[in-house]
Amino acid sequence: MPAANNTFNHIWSGKCPRCRQGDIFQYPLTKVTHFAVMNTRCPVCAAAFTPEPGFYFGALFVSYAFTVAIMVAVWLILYLVFNPADWVYGLALVSGAILFSTISFRLSRVLWLYWFGGLQRKS
Ligand SMILES: [Zn+2]
Repeated sequence: MPAANNTFNHIWSGKCPRCRQGDIFQYPLTKVTHFAVMNTRCPVCAAAFTPEPGFYFGALFVSYAFTVAIMVAVWLILYLVFNPADWVYGLALVSGAILFSTISFRLSRVLWLYWFGGLQRKS
């Protein structure tokens, strides 16, 4: 099934906010050692992905919100399904946060760029 042509899919797949074609990150998420490497400009429309120095500092707070949401979800599932010993909660929460950290990092930066990057879509 082809991906629908909407904003959610563009954000999820890390596409440029302006042209929706160029990749924001240089490598796919599966290349774990280079997951954070970003293109400085869009390879398709040359939009700047770092509008100003320190632009992505704010994305840290979005990433924090994602991490809290992941931890709450893991805790809730454990509590409702297994209700294990306390140390299992600790281990599962930390493991969940680490496991989803690359996704959280990328998604928070992409969202920050979409919200505050000033790159309106050309139609
Ligand atoms: Zn672009």
